[in-house]
Amino acid sequence: MPASLLARLLGAPARPPLPCPAWAPAAVQAAAAGMLAAAALTWASLTFLTGPAPYGRHGRADPAAAARYGRGLPARLAWALQEAPAFLIPAVMALSASRRVGGPAALAAALGPQRTARLAAFLAHYGHRSLIYPLRIRGGARTPVGVAALAFAFCTYNGAMQGAALVWCGGGAGRQEASPLAFRAGMAAWAAGAALNLASDAALRRLRSRKGADGYYALPAGPLFAAIACPNYTGEALEWAGWAAAAGWSVPATAFAVYTLANLGPRARAHAAFYAARFPGQGWEGRAGLVPWVY
Ligand code: NDP
Repeated sequence: MPASLLARLLGAPARPPLPCPAWAPAAVQAAAAGMLAAAALTWASLTFLTGPAPYGRHGRADPAAAARYGRGLPARLAWALQEAPAFLIPAVMALSASRRVGGPAALAAALGPQRTARLAAFLAHYGHRSLIYPLRIRGGARTPVGVAALAFAFCTYNGAMQGAALVWCGGGAGRQEASPLAFRAGMAAWAAGAALNLASDAALRRLRSRKGADGYYALPAGPLFAAIACPNYTGEALEWAGWAAAAGWSVPATAFAVYTLANLGPRARAHAAFYAARFPGQGWEGRAGLVPWVY
């Protein structure tokens, strides 16, 4: 017997169901399949065709490539605008679902503890990335408007897909629950990845006061950078792999984790090659980008 009918028979107010449009579960699955295909294309393109996207150091190193993507936006503005949809879309979905079911506690009860925790983790990451991270950037290179537009499109797509999967669809978008042990391990990996990402970005910010010969980049040192060039990217990849594990490797969460790896892996290798070329003889030749000693 449906819970709402039982509640009505017992005289309790029926809790409205979460707003899952009939088309949403199939759309979420199709969107996730599209993201997996895009991950393969992105990795192949960044590795074999285009090279790293021309923002940050790779935009400074190749101004002609950066100019093909249009005028440069100030780094803080670009990061705030391009990342905002990944925060705002699921936040608005959660707020409207919360009003519909009778408040945040009722929403958390309807979602269950696993989806509530994963939604909170996603919002925390993108709340920080779109509202706090941009304010803390020190002297970041301008981002070409075309690169920011691609990032904006990705964040819109991913924010809508993850928001719909988490807030609207539940089990209707495929399996989204993990065993209690896998859920705890996945969320612990998410937290460890977030800590590594934040600590590494903070270390890079501190480097800005020790500019290298080019006036911009100094050679990073210390345990975070002992075996890889980009611990911030490694932390980001670990975050989303853990988040997907905590979702029982649901298709939308796994697609995001795979896309993150496909996007950040080639860029991390390009960063490692940049340090080796810019600071020769300092032990950076052959250093890995993302995974110590491997990639
Ligand atoms: P980078 O590591 O390239 O740069 C981070 C900041 O530190 C920039 O402001 C950069 O300046 C500065 N910086 C980097 N290295 C040095 C150095 N050696 N000396 C001095 N300053 C330095 O990261 P991104 O800008 O690509 O990414 C920023 C954040 O966004 C990261 O946390 C990353 O994980 C995340 N991200 C996530 C993606 C995803 O797919 N989920 C995609 C891309 C990024 P400058 O801009 O001038 O180079």
